[in-house]
Amino acid sequence: MSRKNELPHEHGQLHNDLLEHIPPAADIAVVAEAFKQLGDPTRLRIFWILCHCEECVTDIAAMLGMSSPAVSHHLRLLKQSGLIVSRRAGKETFYTAAAGELPELLHRSIETVAHITCPKKSD
Ligand SMILES: [Zn+2]
Repeated sequence: MSRKNELPHEHGQLHNDLLEHIPPAADIAVVAEAFKQLGDPTRLRIFWILCHCEECVTDIAAMLGMSSPAVSHHLRLLKQSGLIVSRRAGKETFYTAAAGELPELLHRSIETVAHITCPKKSD
């Protein structure tokens, strides 16, 4: 652990602990993909709604005043990124936020940064 700083410029700072923990690109790809998906305000809103309920395309579209095909497109991308999951019930498909640390952290981050009061207050 006491090797010398291996960076080309010496500024009197040792970054050895940092250098040992820089995440490999493959490990951080899941985070980049999640941020990329949430880089769209509409997807952010859909994801946020699904952090609080399980809903079908039609109702999500109604909540946002959008068309169902447009919402379907966003749901497909959110699902590919693993941020939401779907469940089929008869002819209907219901969507909700995936369980896990990342969706929960993003949920809290959206509310913290945008000063939104969580409607799920019993947590
Ligand atoms: Zn919330």
